[in-house]
Amino acid sequence: MTVSANQSALEYTAALVGQHFFNVLYFDLGRYLIAAGVLTAILFVFRKWANARKIQTRTAGRKDYVRETLSSLRTVFVFGVTTLATLIGKETGIIKLSLESTTLITVAWQFALILVVHDAYFYWIHRAMHSKRLFKATHLHHHKSRTPTPWAAYSFSTWEAAAEAAFMPLFLLVTSLFGVAYAGFALMLFLWNMIIRNVMAHAGHELFPAGWVDTPILRWISTTTHHDLHHAQGYNYGFYFTWWDKWMGTEHPRYAEEFRKNAQPLRLPNLARLLPKTSAEKASILVTAILASSMTLGGPTALMTLPVA
Ligand SMILES: [Zn+2]
Ligand SMILES: [Zn+2]
Repeated sequence: MTVSANQSALEYTAALVGQHFFNVLYFDLGRYLIAAGVLTAILFVFRKWANARKIQTRTAGRKDYVRETLSSLRTVFVFGVTTLATLIGKETGIIKLSLESTTLITVAWQFALILVVHDAYFYWIHRAMHSKRLFKATHLHHHKSRTPTPWAAYSFSTWEAAAEAAFMPLFLLVTSLFGVAYAGFALMLFLWNMIIRNVMAHAGHELFPAGWVDTPILRWISTTTHHDLHHAQGYNYGFYFTWWDKWMGTEHPRYAEEFRKNAQPLRLPNLARLLPKTSAEKASILVTAILASSMTLGGPTALMTLPVA
């Protein structure tokens, strides 16, 4: 899209917003609904397995689900606004993005870099939001979920949503200053990974296999118990990885013990009994699979139709 002689910058921006806002909202909303919906369906279908791995004795009530979902929808809106700001940044040349095909190596290092930087960003703004000055206005809303559910993934106050959403444009602004044009595919991978890890952290049931915290190459990846303990008892401010909590001495002192308690080894002979039996269960898997695949295909399509200069 180019600015014509008789089109002001304001009109140009308004046209861009009108053209792409719903695509952006669809993409952000789709990721939330798919990730939380699929995990809810898995926990329902495999409830026998899930119940054996339930982390807290308390169960989230209907009020929790409603609050978590409604405030997550508000967060989706805030995310949509910042995604659009990023795209306007791209249109105006402030932010460099590459939506053309790229190499696997480029995607790999760009994905790893944004993940590590986002983990640090999340840890430190999370700790800041737990300070006496900021907690009530920013982060209290998220902690109304004492027993989180997958729908709590985006359950933020508007201020927290804005702080979380600011990461992407800020990060891309900095990488653009260094002359790096981030690959669209690396960003897509990052966004999907973010929401999947987010709903997993709030699952309320330990999803990681037994032995995770006792395996050196795996234990630095945080588990559901890690974030669940944060909601129930404090400690554990990190997101993807456990290293910031380890370095800063904020890891829950009984994290490994609690994980071992929640993640009982899966006994293979019982596997057959876990599979869906009733037609309602089979139908719910089918509906979820159709929804997930159609929206997954729709998400990239929506992103690819976003403005390319
Ligand atoms: Zn917190
Ligand atoms: Zn949380």
